[in-house]
Amino acid sequence: MNHRHLQDADHAAGSAGDILRLIRGSDAMSRSTLARVTGLAPSTVSLRVESLISLGLVRESGAEESRGGRRARRLELAGDQGFVAAVDIGANHVRVVLSDLTGRSLVDSDETGHAGVPVSDDPEETVEALWRRIIALADSTGLAEADFRGVAISIPAPIEYPSGRIVTPSFMPTWHEADLPGLFAAHTDSPVLVENDANLIALFESTERGRTDENQLLAVKLGTRIGCGILASGRLHRGIGGAAGEISHMEVKGVSVIPCTCGVPNCLDSVVSGGALVAKLRAQGLDAETASDVVALGARGEPLALEAIREAGARIGESLAGIVNFFNPREVVLAGSMSASLPLVAAIRAELFQKCLPLAAHDLEVRATRDPFVAGIRGATLLALDEVLAPARIDALVKDVADDLRTA
Ligand SMILES: [Zn+2]
Repeated sequence: MNHRHLQDADHAAGSAGDILRLIRGSDAMSRSTLARVTGLAPSTVSLRVESLISLGLVRESGAEESRGGRRARRLELAGDQGFVAAVDIGANHVRVVLSDLTGRSLVDSDETGHAGVPVSDDPEETVEALWRRIIALADSTGLAEADFRGVAISIPAPIEYPSGRIVTPSFMPTWHEADLPGLFAAHTDSPVLVENDANLIALFESTERGRTDENQLLAVKLGTRIGCGILASGRLHRGIGGAAGEISHMEVKGVSVIPCTCGVPNCLDSVVSGGALVAKLRAQGLDAETASDVVALGARGEPLALEAIREAGARIGESLAGIVNFFNPREVVLAGSMSASLPLVAAIRAELFQKCLPLAAHDLEVRATRDPFVAGIRGATLLALDEVLAPARIDALVKDVADDLRTA
């Protein structure tokens, strides 16, 4: 039985899974530090650590500086005890990255130069091709199929939670209600998570300051379409059914230049998304095929492009001001291919700070992601690892081994 989203399940504080979580979160964890952090007796900590070592998930090595002069052995996650896959699916491009259990990237399909996986009308065909690709990439890196631990897939569309079904994807309308975890079940029993692209960006960006329960962050993906991921108190906020952060169909000032199925006249997507800017500039006689082309035209100082970009930035900033007033985040991170446009980011910042309440603006940081092509795929790796190494999953594993020993 494939239990999904065990990372959201409650787990006992101080359990073996919880101890592994603490070891994952620190570069310098020892048995004595664990006892201090958890308040558990040193003998209990040792018991938990030994069970993790016997599962092959933790290694004790090197030395940690300790105040008493005695050196404590350092505990670390054994990264080579399996691998996870992160998949980014867009309208024209699929990217697959395999990483070890510490999150270190092992192979990236964008760097190997192999032909991509086709995004076909039939999601089953794409999943078949995707699974073959994951296994071929693993093989090329000397990894065995048996060491596959799980996959997280980034999709530019709303994702029903917790089922993982795709809802009204504009990039591939035939994928409406597609159940990718169900299709993957023909190939693997390991966890298969499907997540909205902006949510994964939010997850990755929250690691920039270190992951804590204090993280309050909005990640706005500005690509062909516009999406928003919400991280509240350190956790993804998906809403009751997965629709949280779907800002793309808010009504804005301006005139829609591309059709949208939402029924809202002049929604964000149809007025100021990358797709809308492409249509607008083409209608004005400029040569633009993709959102990145719009960024390039703006960077070259093309007057019509700059005007359209600044106008779009003002409309986006205005919309975000209402959301910032409501949510009061610490950070708003602008991501997606359009976030590479300096005039767009400047216009959004200016409008946002002008329109939001002083109290909400006081500790607010608005920044562009460091690399628009990294955040989403790294977020998918993080989500896969959080699931594979979820305390509840590890606790179940420890219990299975203990039960086997008892009945042996
Ligand atoms: Zn719309």
